[in-house]
Amino acid sequence: PSLEFEQTRRLIEMGVQESWWYISDQLQQLRKKVGVHSDFTSHIDQILEEGADHTRVTQFDLHRLSQLDGLGSWREQEAADLSGLIQNRLHALQHPPDCSKARKLICNLNKGCGYGCQIHHVVYCFIVAYGTKRTLILKSRGWRYNKAGWEDVFQPLSETCTDPSGYSHSHWPGLNETQVVDLPIIDTLTQRPTYLPLAIPRDISERLARLHGDPPAWWVGQFLKYMLRLQPKTQEMLDNMAETLGFQKPIIGIHVRRTDKVGTEAAFHGIEEYMSLVENYYTALKLRQPDVVKRVYLASDDPTVITEAQRKYPDYTFVGDPNIARTAAVATRYTDASLKGIIADVHFLSLTDYLICTFSSQVCRIAYEIMQGIHPDASSYFKSLDDIYYYGGQNAHNQRARFPHSPKRSDEMTLKVGDIVGIAGNHWDGYSKGVNRRTRQNGLYPSYKMEEAISIADFPSYAAVDD
Ligand code: GDP
Repeated sequence: PSLEFEQTRRLIEMGVQESWWYISDQLQQLRKKVGVHSDFTSHIDQILEEGADHTRVTQFDLHRLSQLDGLGSWREQEAADLSGLIQNRLHALQHPPDCSKARKLICNLNKGCGYGCQIHHVVYCFIVAYGTKRTLILKSRGWRYNKAGWEDVFQPLSETCTDPSGYSHSHWPGLNETQVVDLPIIDTLTQRPTYLPLAIPRDISERLARLHGDPPAWWVGQFLKYMLRLQPKTQEMLDNMAETLGFQKPIIGIHVRRTDKVGTEAAFHGIEEYMSLVENYYTALKLRQPDVVKRVYLASDDPTVITEAQRKYPDYTFVGDPNIARTAAVATRYTDASLKGIIADVHFLSLTDYLICTFSSQVCRIAYEIMQGIHPDASSYFKSLDDIYYYGGQNAHNQRARFPHSPKRSDEMTLKVGDIVGIAGNHWDGYSKGVNRRTRQNGLYPSYKMEEAISIADFPSYAAVDD
Protein backbone atom coordinates (compact mmCIF):
# COMPACT_ATOMS: atom_id res chain seq x y z
CA PRO A 1 0.00 0.00 0.00
CA SER A 2 1.07 3.61 -0.45
CA LEU A 3 1.97 5.86 2.46
CA GLU A 4 -1.07 7.94 1.67
CA PHE A 5 -3.40 4.95 1.66
CA GLU A 6 -2.27 3.79 5.07
CA GLN A 7 -2.36 7.29 6.52
CA THR A 8 -5.86 7.85 5.18
CA ARG A 9 -7.04 4.51 6.54
CA ARG A 10 -5.75 5.44 9.99
CA LEU A 11 -7.28 8.93 9.77
CA ILE A 12 -10.66 7.28 9.19
CA GLU A 13 -10.11 5.03 12.22
CA MET A 14 -9.26 8.08 14.29
CA GLY A 15 -12.19 10.04 12.89
CA VAL A 16 -14.71 7.31 13.72
CA GLN A 17 -13.40 7.15 17.27
CA GLU A 18 -13.27 10.92 17.74
CA SER A 19 -16.75 11.47 16.36
CA TRP A 20 -18.19 8.92 18.76
CA TRP A 21 -16.34 10.49 21.69
CA TYR A 22 -17.77 13.83 20.63
CA ILE A 23 -21.34 12.66 20.20
CA SER A 24 -21.45 10.54 23.34
CA ASP A 25 -20.00 13.33 25.45
CA GLN A 26 -22.49 15.82 24.05
CA LEU A 27 -25.34 13.41 24.74
CA GLN A 28 -24.18 12.93 28.30
CA GLN A 29 -24.11 16.69 28.80
CA LEU A 30 -27.60 16.93 27.36
CA ARG A 31 -28.75 14.16 29.66
CA LYS A 32 -27.58 16.14 32.67
CA LYS A 33 -29.33 19.26 31.40
CA VAL A 34 -32.73 17.65 30.91
CA GLY A 35 -32.65 16.09 34.39
CA VAL A 36 -33.11 12.50 35.50
CA HIS A 37 -36.87 12.51 35.47
CA SER A 38 -37.29 13.87 32.00
CA ASP A 39 -38.95 11.82 29.27
CA PHE A 40 -35.86 12.41 27.18
CA THR A 41 -33.51 10.55 29.50
CA SER A 42 -34.34 7.06 28.35
CA HIS A 43 -34.29 8.15 24.73
CA ILE A 44 -30.81 9.64 25.21
CA ASP A 45 -29.66 6.45 26.92
CA GLN A 46 -30.96 4.46 23.99
CA ILE A 47 -29.01 6.62 21.52
CA LEU A 48 -25.89 6.21 23.66
CA GLU A 49 -26.26 2.45 23.66
CA GLU A 50 -27.12 2.04 19.99
CA GLY A 51 -24.63 4.68 18.90
CA ALA A 52 -21.88 2.75 20.65
CA ASP A 53 -22.96 -0.31 18.70
CA HIS A 54 -22.90 1.55 15.39
CA THR A 55 -19.37 2.64 16.17
CA ARG A 56 -18.25 -0.86 17.14
CA VAL A 57 -19.55 -2.34 13.89
CA THR A 58 -17.82 0.32 11.80
CA GLN A 59 -14.60 -0.25 13.75
CA PHE A 60 -14.95 -3.98 13.18
CA ASP A 61 -15.13 -3.34 9.43
CA LEU A 62 -12.22 -0.94 9.52
CA HIS A 63 -10.19 -3.62 11.24
CA ARG A 64 -11.08 -6.05 8.45
CA LEU A 65 -10.11 -3.46 5.87
CA SER A 66 -6.69 -3.15 7.49
CA GLN A 67 -6.13 -6.88 6.90
CA LEU A 68 -7.61 -7.33 3.41
CA ASP A 69 -5.78 -7.77 0.09
CA GLY A 70 -2.63 -8.99 1.76
CA LEU A 71 -2.28 -5.86 3.91
CA GLY A 72 -2.11 -7.89 7.11
CA SER A 73 0.74 -10.07 5.93
CA TRP A 74 2.50 -7.12 4.30
CA ARG A 75 2.40 -5.34 7.67
CA GLU A 76 3.78 -8.38 9.49
CA GLN A 77 6.68 -8.67 7.09
CA GLU A 78 7.44 -4.96 7.00
CA ALA A 79 7.38 -4.73 10.82
CA ALA A 80 9.75 -7.69 11.09
CA ASP A 81 12.10 -6.18 8.48
CA LEU A 82 12.18 -2.72 10.04
CA SER A 83 12.65 -4.09 13.53
CA GLY A 84 15.38 -6.42 12.28
CA LEU A 85 17.16 -3.47 10.70
CA ILE A 86 17.15 -1.45 13.94
CA GLN A 87 17.98 -4.39 16.22
CA ASN A 88 20.94 -5.17 13.99
CA ARG A 89 22.17 -1.57 14.19
CA LEU A 90 21.84 -1.54 17.98
CA HIS A 91 23.75 -4.80 18.19
CA ALA A 92 26.53 -3.35 16.03
CA LEU A 93 26.64 -0.17 18.11
CA GLN A 94 27.01 -2.25 21.28
CA HIS A 95 29.71 -4.51 19.82
CA PRO A 96 32.47 -2.25 18.53
CA PRO A 97 35.45 -4.04 16.95
CA ASP A 98 37.77 -2.90 19.76
CA CYS A 99 36.23 -1.80 23.07
CA SER A 100 39.48 -0.22 24.28
CA LYS A 101 39.30 2.25 21.39
CA ALA A 102 35.54 2.59 21.12
CA ARG A 103 33.76 5.89 21.70
CA LYS A 104 31.48 5.43 24.71
CA LEU A 105 28.53 7.04 26.43
CA ILE A 106 28.13 6.43 30.16
CA CYS A 107 24.66 6.17 31.63
CA ASN A 108 23.87 5.61 35.28
CA LEU A 109 20.71 3.59 35.84
CA ASN A 110 20.32 4.98 39.34
CA LYS A 111 18.17 7.99 38.56
CA GLY A 112 16.27 8.80 41.75
CA CYS A 113 12.86 7.60 40.65
CA GLY A 114 10.66 4.56 40.02
CA TYR A 115 11.33 1.57 37.74
CA GLY A 116 9.45 2.99 34.75
CA CYS A 117 11.24 6.28 35.07
CA GLN A 118 14.63 4.56 35.32
CA ILE A 119 13.96 2.40 32.28
CA HIS A 120 12.94 5.50 30.33
CA HIS A 121 16.14 7.14 31.51
CA VAL A 122 18.15 4.29 29.96
CA VAL A 123 16.15 4.50 26.72
CA TYR A 124 17.01 8.19 26.50
CA CYS A 125 20.69 7.35 27.07
CA PHE A 126 20.48 4.67 24.38
CA ILE A 127 18.91 7.09 21.88
CA VAL A 128 21.71 9.58 22.55
CA ALA A 129 24.23 6.75 22.14
CA TYR A 130 22.63 5.89 18.79
CA GLY A 131 22.61 9.58 17.85
CA THR A 132 26.31 10.00 18.66
CA LYS A 133 27.36 6.52 17.48
CA ARG A 134 28.78 5.77 20.90
CA THR A 135 28.57 2.42 22.63
CA LEU A 136 26.28 2.69 25.64
CA ILE A 137 27.88 1.68 28.94
CA LEU A 138 25.28 1.16 31.64
CA LYS A 139 26.26 1.56 35.29
CA SER A 140 23.80 -0.26 37.51
CA ARG A 141 25.60 -1.25 40.67
CA GLY A 142 23.50 -0.60 43.79
CA TRP A 143 20.30 -0.40 41.72
CA ARG A 144 17.42 0.24 44.11
CA TYR A 145 15.37 -2.47 42.43
CA ASN A 146 18.14 -5.06 42.46
CA LYS A 147 21.43 -4.59 44.25
CA ALA A 148 23.11 -7.17 42.03
CA GLY A 149 22.51 -4.90 39.07
CA TRP A 150 20.95 -4.96 35.64
CA GLU A 151 22.69 -8.06 34.27
CA ASP A 152 21.24 -10.18 37.05
CA VAL A 153 17.80 -9.94 35.40
CA PHE A 154 18.33 -8.65 31.86
CA GLN A 155 20.97 -9.63 29.36
CA PRO A 156 23.90 -7.21 29.29
CA LEU A 157 23.73 -4.41 26.72
CA SER A 158 26.93 -5.79 25.28
CA GLU A 159 28.78 -9.10 25.33
CA THR A 160 32.10 -7.48 24.50
CA CYS A 161 32.11 -3.87 25.65
CA THR A 162 31.09 -2.93 29.19
CA ASP A 163 34.29 -1.27 30.42
CA PRO A 164 33.71 2.44 31.14
CA SER A 165 37.38 3.43 30.94
CA GLY A 166 39.11 5.31 28.13
CA TYR A 167 41.99 7.65 27.27
CA SER A 168 39.88 10.81 27.39
CA HIS A 169 36.85 11.62 29.45
CA SER A 170 34.33 14.45 29.51
CA HIS A 171 30.86 15.47 30.57
CA TRP A 172 28.19 15.86 27.92
CA PRO A 173 28.53 16.89 25.15
CA GLY A 174 32.33 16.59 24.98
CA LEU A 175 34.05 16.60 21.62
CA ASN A 176 33.50 14.14 18.83
CA GLU A 177 36.90 12.57 19.53
CA THR A 178 36.45 12.43 23.34
CA GLN A 179 36.44 8.71 24.03
CA VAL A 180 34.17 8.58 27.08
CA VAL A 181 31.27 10.97 27.63
CA ASP A 182 29.09 11.08 30.75
CA LEU A 183 25.44 11.78 30.05
CA PRO A 184 23.34 13.66 32.63
CA ILE A 185 19.63 12.96 33.15
CA ILE A 186 17.33 14.43 30.50
CA ASP A 187 15.93 16.95 33.00
CA THR A 188 19.28 18.79 33.26
CA LEU A 189 20.56 18.19 29.72
CA THR A 190 21.98 21.27 28.02
CA GLN A 191 22.74 21.46 24.27
CA ARG A 192 19.80 19.18 23.64
CA PRO A 193 20.06 17.21 20.42
CA THR A 194 17.19 17.52 17.94
CA TYR A 195 16.84 13.75 17.80
CA LEU A 196 15.37 13.32 21.30
CA PRO A 197 11.84 11.84 21.46
CA LEU A 198 9.39 12.22 19.89
CA ALA A 199 11.63 12.47 16.85
CA ILE A 200 12.17 9.52 14.52
CA PRO A 201 15.16 8.93 12.21
CA ARG A 202 14.92 10.33 8.71
CA ASP A 203 16.24 7.22 6.96
CA ILE A 204 13.31 5.06 8.12
CA SER A 205 10.71 7.82 8.52
CA GLU A 206 8.72 7.05 5.39
CA ARG A 207 8.59 3.32 5.91
CA LEU A 208 7.72 3.82 9.55
CA ALA A 209 4.99 6.39 8.89
CA ARG A 210 3.44 3.95 6.42
CA LEU A 211 3.69 0.96 8.73
CA HIS A 212 2.76 2.39 12.07
CA GLY A 213 0.16 4.66 13.66
CA ASP A 214 2.51 5.96 16.36
CA PRO A 215 6.07 6.06 14.97
CA PRO A 216 7.66 7.74 18.04
CA ALA A 217 6.34 5.00 20.36
CA TRP A 218 7.52 2.32 17.90
CA TRP A 219 10.99 3.89 17.86
CA VAL A 220 11.21 3.94 21.68
CA GLY A 221 9.89 0.37 21.68
CA GLN A 222 12.85 -0.74 19.56
CA PHE A 223 15.30 0.37 22.27
CA LEU A 224 13.23 -1.43 24.89
CA LYS A 225 13.20 -4.53 22.73
CA TYR A 226 16.98 -4.58 22.73
CA MET A 227 17.41 -3.58 26.39
CA LEU A 228 14.85 -5.84 28.01
CA ARG A 229 16.09 -9.15 26.59
CA LEU A 230 15.54 -11.41 29.59
CA GLN A 231 18.09 -13.59 31.31
CA PRO A 232 16.96 -17.23 31.13
CA LYS A 233 16.11 -17.34 34.84
CA THR A 234 13.94 -14.21 34.51
CA GLN A 235 12.18 -15.78 31.54
CA GLU A 236 11.61 -18.93 33.58
CA MET A 237 10.17 -16.95 36.48
CA LEU A 238 7.74 -15.18 34.14
CA ASP A 239 6.75 -18.41 32.39
CA ASN A 240 5.99 -19.98 35.77
CA MET A 241 3.96 -16.97 36.81
CA ALA A 242 1.99 -17.04 33.56
CA GLU A 243 1.13 -20.66 34.32
CA THR A 244 0.21 -20.09 37.97
CA LEU A 245 -1.82 -16.95 37.33
CA GLY A 246 -3.58 -18.41 34.29
CA PHE A 247 -2.42 -15.75 31.85
CA GLN A 248 -4.23 -16.61 28.62
CA LYS A 249 -5.48 -14.74 25.59
CA PRO A 250 -7.67 -12.97 24.87
CA ILE A 251 -6.91 -10.70 27.77
CA ILE A 252 -7.12 -6.99 28.50
CA GLY A 253 -4.59 -5.28 30.72
CA ILE A 254 -5.56 -2.62 33.20
CA HIS A 255 -3.09 -0.66 35.26
CA VAL A 256 -4.51 1.24 38.22
CA ARG A 257 -1.92 3.65 39.55
CA ARG A 258 -2.73 4.92 43.02
CA THR A 259 -0.76 5.53 46.27
CA ASP A 260 1.81 8.33 45.94
CA LYS A 261 0.65 9.36 42.45
CA VAL A 262 -2.92 10.29 43.33
CA GLY A 263 -3.44 13.97 44.10
CA THR A 264 0.15 14.82 43.16
CA GLU A 265 0.70 13.87 39.53
CA ALA A 266 -2.62 12.26 38.64
CA ALA A 267 -6.26 12.09 39.63
CA PHE A 268 -8.04 9.16 41.26
CA HIS A 269 -9.91 6.91 38.84
CA GLY A 270 -12.44 4.41 40.19
CA ILE A 271 -12.41 0.82 38.95
CA GLU A 272 -15.71 1.52 37.18
CA GLU A 273 -14.00 3.86 34.73
CA TYR A 274 -11.59 1.16 33.66
CA MET A 275 -14.22 -1.55 33.59
CA SER A 276 -16.68 0.30 31.38
CA LEU A 277 -13.92 0.42 28.76
CA VAL A 278 -13.19 -3.26 29.32
CA GLU A 279 -16.87 -4.01 28.86
CA ASN A 280 -16.87 -2.02 25.61
CA TYR A 281 -13.83 -3.93 24.33
CA TYR A 282 -15.41 -7.33 25.01
CA THR A 283 -18.75 -6.29 23.51
CA ALA A 284 -16.80 -5.45 20.34
CA LEU A 285 -14.79 -8.66 20.49
CA LYS A 286 -18.02 -10.68 20.74
CA LEU A 287 -18.81 -9.56 17.18
CA ARG A 288 -15.93 -11.83 16.17
CA GLN A 289 -15.82 -14.36 19.02
CA PRO A 290 -19.32 -14.86 20.46
CA ASP A 291 -18.38 -17.01 23.46
CA VAL A 292 -15.24 -15.35 24.63
CA VAL A 293 -14.07 -15.66 28.26
CA LYS A 294 -13.73 -12.14 29.65
CA ARG A 295 -10.24 -11.99 31.16
CA VAL A 296 -8.49 -9.00 32.66
CA TYR A 297 -4.89 -8.75 33.79
CA LEU A 298 -4.98 -6.28 36.66
CA ALA A 299 -1.82 -4.52 37.83
CA SER A 300 -1.82 -1.96 40.58
CA ASP A 301 0.14 -0.50 43.44
CA ASP A 302 -3.12 -0.56 45.42
CA PRO A 303 -3.79 -4.09 46.75
CA THR A 304 -7.49 -3.38 47.43
CA VAL A 305 -8.24 -2.95 43.71
CA ILE A 306 -8.17 -6.64 42.83
CA THR A 307 -10.62 -7.66 45.54
CA GLU A 308 -12.86 -4.71 44.71
CA ALA A 309 -12.85 -5.67 41.02
CA GLN A 310 -13.61 -9.32 41.75
CA ARG A 311 -16.49 -8.37 44.02
CA LYS A 312 -18.02 -5.83 41.62
CA TYR A 313 -17.46 -7.76 38.37
CA PRO A 314 -18.10 -11.45 39.08
CA ASP A 315 -18.55 -12.31 35.37
CA TYR A 316 -14.88 -11.49 34.72
CA THR A 317 -11.79 -13.55 35.33
CA PHE A 318 -9.19 -11.32 36.96
CA VAL A 319 -5.61 -12.37 36.51
CA GLY A 320 -3.08 -10.78 38.80
CA ASP A 321 -1.24 -11.24 42.02
CA PRO A 322 -2.47 -9.25 45.06
CA ASN A 323 0.94 -9.83 46.67
CA ILE A 324 2.62 -7.92 43.87
CA ALA A 325 0.29 -4.98 44.48
CA ARG A 326 1.01 -5.15 48.20
CA THR A 327 4.77 -4.91 47.70
CA ALA A 328 4.27 -2.34 44.92
CA ALA A 329 2.47 -0.03 47.33
CA VAL A 330 5.64 -0.01 49.40
CA ALA A 331 7.99 0.16 46.40
CA THR A 332 6.65 3.51 45.27
CA ARG A 333 7.64 5.12 48.53
CA TYR A 334 10.65 3.18 49.75
CA THR A 335 13.80 1.89 48.20
CA ASP A 336 14.55 -1.74 47.47
CA ALA A 337 11.36 -3.84 47.34
CA SER A 338 10.03 -5.90 44.53
CA LEU A 339 11.76 -5.94 41.17
CA LYS A 340 10.06 -9.21 40.39
CA GLY A 341 6.63 -7.63 40.80
CA ILE A 342 7.20 -4.64 38.57
CA ILE A 343 8.99 -6.67 35.89
CA ALA A 344 6.12 -9.13 35.89
CA ASP A 345 3.44 -6.45 35.74
CA VAL A 346 5.10 -4.56 32.89
CA HIS A 347 5.75 -7.83 31.05
CA PHE A 348 2.19 -9.12 31.33
CA LEU A 349 0.61 -5.74 30.61
CA SER A 350 2.65 -5.57 27.40
CA LEU A 351 1.45 -9.04 26.41
CA THR A 352 -2.24 -8.18 26.69
CA ASP A 353 -4.41 -7.43 23.66
CA TYR A 354 -5.44 -3.99 24.86
CA LEU A 355 -4.33 -1.66 27.64
CA ILE A 356 -6.50 0.55 29.80
CA CYS A 357 -4.58 2.83 32.11
CA THR A 358 -3.41 6.34 32.85
CA PHE A 359 -0.58 7.44 30.57
CA SER A 360 0.51 9.80 33.34
CA SER A 361 2.18 6.65 34.71
CA GLN A 362 5.46 5.52 33.20
CA VAL A 363 4.57 1.93 34.09
CA CYS A 364 1.78 1.91 31.53
CA ARG A 365 3.63 3.94 28.93
CA ILE A 366 6.43 1.39 29.01
CA ALA A 367 3.98 -1.47 28.56
CA TYR A 368 2.52 0.38 25.56
CA GLU A 369 5.96 0.97 24.06
CA ILE A 370 6.97 -2.68 24.46
CA MET A 371 3.67 -3.68 22.82
CA GLN A 372 4.79 -1.86 19.66
CA GLY A 373 7.67 -4.30 19.32
CA ILE A 374 5.36 -7.29 19.67
CA HIS A 375 2.69 -6.45 17.06
CA PRO A 376 3.11 -4.91 13.61
CA ASP A 377 1.06 -1.90 14.72
CA ALA A 378 -0.36 -1.79 18.25
CA SER A 379 -0.74 1.99 18.22
CA SER A 380 -4.48 1.76 18.83
CA TYR A 381 -4.41 -1.04 21.41
CA PHE A 382 -4.89 1.26 24.38
CA LYS A 383 -7.10 3.78 26.08
CA SER A 384 -5.60 6.24 28.51
CA LEU A 385 -7.87 7.78 31.12
CA ASP A 386 -5.76 10.89 31.30
CA ASP A 387 -2.72 11.93 29.22
CA ILE A 388 -1.94 11.24 25.60
CA TYR A 389 1.28 9.33 24.93
CA TYR A 390 4.40 11.30 25.78
CA TYR A 391 8.02 10.80 26.67
CA GLY A 392 9.35 12.57 29.78
CA GLY A 393 11.57 15.48 28.71
CA GLN A 394 10.43 15.19 25.09
CA ASN A 395 10.80 17.89 22.45
CA ALA A 396 7.55 19.55 21.36
CA HIS A 397 4.65 17.35 20.24
CA ASN A 398 2.91 19.03 17.32
CA GLN A 399 -0.16 18.42 15.22
CA ARG A 400 -1.11 19.98 11.91
CA ALA A 401 -4.55 21.28 10.93
CA ARG A 402 -5.98 19.53 7.86
CA PHE A 403 -9.13 21.69 7.88
CA PRO A 404 -9.90 25.22 9.01
CA HIS A 405 -11.85 25.83 12.18
CA SER A 406 -13.74 28.82 13.51
CA PRO A 407 -14.41 28.79 17.24
CA LYS A 408 -17.90 27.88 18.41
CA ARG A 409 -17.15 28.77 22.03
CA SER A 410 -14.88 31.32 23.67
CA ASP A 411 -12.33 28.69 24.79
CA GLU A 412 -11.73 27.37 21.24
CA MET A 413 -8.97 28.44 18.89
CA THR A 414 -9.04 29.47 15.25
CA LEU A 415 -7.35 27.13 12.79
CA LYS A 416 -6.11 27.70 9.28
CA VAL A 417 -5.13 24.76 7.11
CA GLY A 418 -1.51 23.90 7.83
CA ASP A 419 -1.41 25.52 11.27
CA ILE A 420 0.92 23.79 13.67
CA VAL A 421 -0.53 23.22 17.13
CA GLY A 422 1.47 22.07 20.15
CA ILE A 423 -0.81 19.52 21.76
CA ALA A 424 -1.08 19.46 25.57
CA GLY A 425 -3.77 16.81 25.81
CA ASN A 426 -6.77 15.12 24.28
CA HIS A 427 -9.93 15.52 26.33
CA TRP A 428 -11.39 12.36 24.78
CA ASP A 429 -14.61 14.23 24.04
CA GLY A 430 -13.84 15.32 20.51
CA TYR A 431 -11.56 18.16 21.58
CA SER A 432 -7.88 18.53 22.28
CA LYS A 433 -6.12 21.36 24.02
CA GLY A 434 -2.98 23.11 22.88
CA VAL A 435 -1.29 26.19 21.54
CA ASN A 436 -1.45 27.40 17.96
CA ARG A 437 2.17 28.15 17.03
CA ARG A 438 1.14 30.70 14.39
CA THR A 439 -1.26 32.79 16.47
CA ARG A 440 0.06 31.79 19.94
CA GLN A 441 -3.54 31.25 20.88
CA ASN A 442 -4.14 28.70 23.65
CA GLY A 443 -7.33 26.72 23.64
CA LEU A 444 -9.46 23.81 22.57
CA TYR A 445 -9.63 22.55 19.01
CA PRO A 446 -11.47 19.68 17.31
CA SER A 447 -9.22 16.60 17.30
CA TYR A 448 -10.69 15.13 14.10
CA LYS A 449 -9.44 18.00 11.94
CA MET A 450 -5.82 17.29 12.82
CA GLU A 451 -2.99 14.99 11.82
CA GLU A 452 0.27 14.30 13.62
CA ALA A 453 3.21 16.50 12.59
CA ILE A 454 5.88 13.92 13.22
CA SER A 455 9.30 15.31 13.96
CA ILE A 456 11.97 13.78 11.75
CA ALA A 457 15.59 14.04 12.84
CA ASP A 458 18.94 13.36 11.25
CA PHE A 459 20.94 10.60 12.89
CA PRO A 460 24.36 9.38 11.81
CA SER A 461 24.32 6.80 9.05
CA TYR A 462 24.31 3.11 9.91
CA ALA A 463 24.43 2.01 6.28
CA ALA A 464 27.75 0.25 6.88
CA VAL A 465 26.12 -2.28 9.22
CA ASP A 466 22.85 -2.76 7.31
CA ASP A 467 22.77 -6.07 5.51
P1 GDP B 1 5.01 6.36 37.67
O1 GDP B 1 5.36 7.03 38.98
O2 GDP B 1 3.72 5.63 37.76
O3 GDP B 1 5.06 7.30 36.50
O4 GDP B 1 6.06 5.22 37.33
P2 GDP B 1 7.47 4.83 37.94
O5 GDP B 1 7.76 3.47 37.41
O6 GDP B 1 8.48 5.86 37.68
O7 GDP B 1 7.29 4.72 39.51
C1 GDP B 1 6.25 3.99 40.09
C2 GDP B 1 6.73 2.79 40.84
O8 GDP B 1 5.66 2.32 41.65
C3 GDP B 1 7.08 1.62 39.96
O9 GDP B 1 8.35 1.64 39.48
C4 GDP B 1 6.80 0.44 40.88
O10 GDP B 1 7.85 0.29 41.80
C5 GDP B 1 5.56 0.93 41.61
N1 GDP B 1 4.33 0.57 40.88
C6 GDP B 1 3.42 1.40 40.36
N2 GDP B 1 2.41 0.72 39.77
C7 GDP B 1 2.72 -0.59 39.89
C8 GDP B 1 2.09 -1.80 39.47
O11 GDP B 1 1.03 -1.83 38.86
N3 GDP B 1 2.72 -2.96 39.77
C9 GDP B 1 3.91 -2.98 40.45
N4 GDP B 1 4.45 -4.17 40.68
N5 GDP B 1 4.52 -1.87 40.87
C10 GDP B 1 3.95 -0.68 40.59
